[in-house]
Amino acid sequence: METLRFQVVGEAFKKKPLDVHTPSDRPAKYFGRKVFNREKMYKYLQKDVYEKMIDVMDNGARLDRKVADAVAAGMKQWATEMGATHYTHWFQPLTEGTAEKHDSFIEHDGKGGMVEEFTGKLLVQQEPDASSFPSGGIRSTFEARGYSAWDPTSPVFVIDDTLCIPTVFISYSGEALDYKAPLLRALHAVNVAATEVCHYFDPSVKKVTSNLGWEQEYFLVDEGLYAARPDLLLTGRTLMGHDSAKNQQMDDHYFGSIPERVAAFMRELEIEALELGIPCKTRHNEVAPNQFELAPIFEDTNLAVDHNMLLMSLMKRIARKHGFRVLLHEKPFAGINGSGKHNNWSLSTDNGVLLHAPGKTPEQNLRFATFIVETLMGVYRHNGLLKASIMSATNAHRLGANEAPPAIISSFLGKQVSELLDHIEKADRDNILSMDGKQGMKMDIPEIPELFIDNTDRNRTSPFAFTGNRFEFRAVGSEANCASAMITLNSAVAEALVNFKKRVDARIAEIENDFEGSGHNPIMHAVIDVLREDIKTCKPIRFDGNGYSDEWVVEAEKRGLDVEKSCPEIFKSYLAPESIQMFESLGVMTRKELEARNEVKWETYTKKVQIEARVLGDISMNHIIPVATRYQTALLKNVDSVSKLFPADKAEKLNARNLKIIEEIAMRTSTIEAGVEELVNARKVANKIESEYEKAVAYHDTIAPKFDAIRYEIDKLELIVDDSLWPLPKYRELLFIR
Ligand code: ADP
Ligand code: MG
Repeated sequence: METLRFQVVGEAFKKKPLDVHTPSDRPAKYFGRKVFNREKMYKYLQKDVYEKMIDVMDNGARLDRKVADAVAAGMKQWATEMGATHYTHWFQPLTEGTAEKHDSFIEHDGKGGMVEEFTGKLLVQQEPDASSFPSGGIRSTFEARGYSAWDPTSPVFVIDDTLCIPTVFISYSGEALDYKAPLLRALHAVNVAATEVCHYFDPSVKKVTSNLGWEQEYFLVDEGLYAARPDLLLTGRTLMGHDSAKNQQMDDHYFGSIPERVAAFMRELEIEALELGIPCKTRHNEVAPNQFELAPIFEDTNLAVDHNMLLMSLMKRIARKHGFRVLLHEKPFAGINGSGKHNNWSLSTDNGVLLHAPGKTPEQNLRFATFIVETLMGVYRHNGLLKASIMSATNAHRLGANEAPPAIISSFLGKQVSELLDHIEKADRDNILSMDGKQGMKMDIPEIPELFIDNTDRNRTSPFAFTGNRFEFRAVGSEANCASAMITLNSAVAEALVNFKKRVDARIAEIENDFEGSGHNPIMHAVIDVLREDIKTCKPIRFDGNGYSDEWVVEAEKRGLDVEKSCPEIFKSYLAPESIQMFESLGVMTRKELEARNEVKWETYTKKVQIEARVLGDISMNHIIPVATRYQTALLKNVDSVSKLFPADKAEKLNARNLKIIEEIAMRTSTIEAGVEELVNARKVANKIESEYEKAVAYHDTIAPKFDAIRYEIDKLELIVDDSLWPLPKYRELLFIR
């Protein structure tokens, strides 16, 4: 393979293997080594402080100043023993990354010397100078202060010399400026709502936790090649590049053996992740060449979100140590599979019941059906909003392309669960619940064999598929903060459960008297009545067919599902009356917060497309056209020499091919130039628009669609221009060198 045009960093690694950080212990020993987890708390905190902390973490108890001081002291002791000299409030602003500002523990001791100090006050609250984080206008720059506040439910950890404290980021007037604050509110809402519904079945349930297991897909590219691609460097994706003669058609990458340098990267990544308490479980090659996946064991959603953010930054850092760059963009290469981040989601109780898993008794299965149906109700009612929650300028390239879920949210249940719901809906209600002389009440709810959990018929085309004991939200983008999807999903389900409970309670009151002394439990009758209603209502969201087909788009529209494809339009779902009503009634976000966040979304969309347009213009004008012209000049010289050397009729024949190419280059470069000019003009028009929404729409409708025509010509030139002159690493190099 031709690789001489660029310096391939990987070659150096083959000669001198990397010194990979490998602890001598087994993973179980070093797991969580860098985390101030319960075990460390027990060791570094006094008993009463430890117990108070556990109460804060498990039951959301309030934390008073004295306890905070004691916790801070214990944390500092542990952190300094780990070599930390600094601390930071670590938070998740509305950009897709994390932010931190490091301060050292050092303070004046009042006697001319220094001491290392860390108080409860510093632990609990900070004021990062955060005026440059997006806020959608909530903090106009003159009152730019927001504060970060400790989230005691996600443990602090040490990276290098810094103690990192997970925090929420809030404006002084109380609006969330980050992802974590609304996520914690949504998790609280779903906990309260689900716990109450659980009480119909088991009054001893105290708490319901939302679980998340994400599967992170990514590409690795050799750093030397990456550096030679301004588009990858500045936009995270290739804006041009002809298909490689070989790509993924052989299906030989998926689950194939992992290349050596990649394996070394994965090993080091996993060790560091495990030390930070991220329970890494699975790693494998993905469908596309140079595409891989990492998945941990699922955790409480708040923690899982933090761990995913942490993992993404670890990946970037460790990849570079191995001479790679990690691409988290959802669609780095046209024509090649994109990257997603499946969000496996479920609810479970404090007494160990997985609410989305079938049980053994009919009553357990009625509870199972309840949580399945109410999840579907939430997803049905807010399908447009759920789509908005995973939509971004980058993920838009992946959704709807022929390899990822379409830009329509629907749910796949599989045969057995579908049959269970059909049975509850259609069977005679009084037969579902009947009296059995000796045993009291009998319930005719079909059993689901346990085998089924490992055996779910999988529908890979469904964006929200039931997979045995959880739902798998597959539309989430690889680069996204999972919190966005999790805020919406948990809120939507919380709302559905609140509604469900209201109607069940009303129904119980209605039928109670009829059941006096009958031995029947009116609660179960009421649950079934309401469930039957809901199974009918949410039917349009259930779809077991091929989600990639064109017929589905037509069908989905008939069913009233949201089929909008334009990213800026999709964001509007956040401001739909039913969305505002849902978020406000649950206390997750206010209208003002939603409006502000949408401003940020539109602005981010515009900026991303704007940067791409500029990069495409620049590369066209100062990489592609000059190189194509240089090659054309060489051909012209050749034609000239041939004409001088040979008689005219012979020269004509000999020059025929070169003349054709000379002409083709002229045509293509002038089309590119005209395209770039159009792009510039369209930007000038769009940039004058005041409203962020309208500007984003203009970028979507008038600028983004112009990319393809320019790219088309560039990709054609790539095929005819002398390979040794071509200024950009090609797809075959980016995708196959490792
Ligand atoms: P796949 O076959 O889709 O690759 P895996 O078995 O690798 O799925 O699991 C994917 C993720 O789903 C893992 O993070 C796993 O821990 C998580 N998971 C498994 N069961 C549940 C559950 N009940 N709730 C949430 N996540 C779960
Ligand atoms: Mg999966």
